[in-house]
Amino acid sequence: MALLRTDHKAPPPEKLAETEWVDPEYQPREHLSVSTLQTFDKCPRLYFYKKSGICSPNPAPALTYGVAMHKAFPVVLTEGLDAGFEAFKSVWDESLADKKRNLACAKRSLQHFDFTHKGGRSLYKLVDPPKGDIGMEDDTSPYEVPFAIDIGLPIPLVGRIDGLVQHRDTGELWGLEFKTTSRLTSNFGAAFEMNTQLLSYALVLSMLVDQPIVGMMVEGMLVSPTKVDGMTHLEYIQQHHLNDILKWLQITGQSLLACEESMTEDDPGAAFPKDFTGCTAYTNFYIPTFRCDYTNLCRAGKWEHAIRLYNISIKETESGFGKMTKGSKECPI
Ligand code: SF4
Repeated sequence: MALLRTDHKAPPPEKLAETEWVDPEYQPREHLSVSTLQTFDKCPRLYFYKKSGICSPNPAPALTYGVAMHKAFPVVLTEGLDAGFEAFKSVWDESLADKKRNLACAKRSLQHFDFTHKGGRSLYKLVDPPKGDIGMEDDTSPYEVPFAIDIGLPIPLVGRIDGLVQHRDTGELWGLEFKTTSRLTSNFGAAFEMNTQLLSYALVLSMLVDQPIVGMMVEGMLVSPTKVDGMTHLEYIQQHHLNDILKWLQITGQSLLACEESMTEDDPGAAFPKDFTGCTAYTNFYIPTFRCDYTNLCRAGKWEHAIRLYNISIKETESGFGKMTKGSKECPI
């Protein structure tokens, strides 16, 4: 099987002879992350395809826009609007622009974010992240909290939390996550109730600081061609949910590692079962437009036969967690 090595569109035919071709390749994990476990829990086969570097041929403007906003938010909070907009531009690629994700919309949204967070209007202030021996070369802000935690599995749980903050009125410590969204209604907050990512991050923060973490604040920013809006949602965390989330992290991580154990060279994908509840709209609350990106692969008798409909991203096949210096902490629960 010969595959094109590219993160975006296939080059024109005359260029093919000069292009390096690679197979999708699954690299056994050296560490786990919450998003890795969420994907695996949704459908193990989907996880295998993703981590083998198989991806849709269309670039994802939403993802890049979200990363650029993540870079900008803390800079606006600490250095002001102009510096925040420059931080946004350092990540965003305007060739990906569409009607709601472009420089003009970004500037309007950041102006709104700046206005609603300065002069005592912000509900929180960023605090320095806990000191540890994890260092990231590609961090998006100095307030980001990178972590590597021993959760009782052979490999650590790793990740990065957008920030640790202090509540303006109570002085309590909270975690912070930034989110961009195309729908910012009263249901926005409900989407984060008993959420695997927020609970996992609260668990991690509770280990890293010596004070209790009251909950997670979710800073939501509307992505729209015409409107600007934002919301700081407070998600209080129950202590017993931290025990529950640790159990989920452990069991899902164990299942993932068990799949890796049973991989064969012949068909490594076969070790990762297909979970058909994730494929189509009916089992996903009948969201009419929903269809898993990988249905072409799962329809084929041999998934490799449909692989030319996709691109291969070398980035996805790597199991590295940015440039992380060594260090992990044992989970006390
Ligand atoms: S099509 Fe269904 S079984 Fe296949 S990867 Fe997607 S969710 Fe999993």
